[in-house]
Amino acid sequence: MIPYSELSPDAEIEILEGKLAIVKDLCKGCSFCIEFCPKHVLAISKDFNKKGYHPPVVKEAMACSNCKLCEYYCPEFAIYTPAGSEKKKPKQKSTVVAKEVRHE
Ligand code: SF4
Ligand code: SF4
Repeated sequence: MIPYSELSPDAEIEILEGKLAIVKDLCKGCSFCIEFCPKHVLAISKDFNKKGYHPPVVKEAMACSNCKLCEYYCPEFAIYTPAGSEKKKPKQKSTVVAKEVRHE
């Protein structure tokens, strides 16, 4: 992958649009997803879930690169990027978008 800083100003780039799903009541509050996110997208919620833990919340949605590390590290399958959430947007300097999806 070429770093953005090495792209010419008129380069055509493809950006992935990410979407996060957080099933807050499955979360056991281990914070793995928060600690291992390379983009610091997540933070601990002040709210409690049904088990009495603090689930993660999205704090920097625009920073998400859809790398799926949070999904891989979660031992409870409580956070994931839904299938089809990677949409390539060629020929535009779009930003990366992450949405928090809650399943109540
Ligand atoms: S997909 Fe990657 S960048 Fe996005 S929240 Fe998860 S670990 Fe962070
Ligand atoms: S890794 Fe999973 S169980 Fe741990 S805090 Fe994140 S969502 Fe909750």
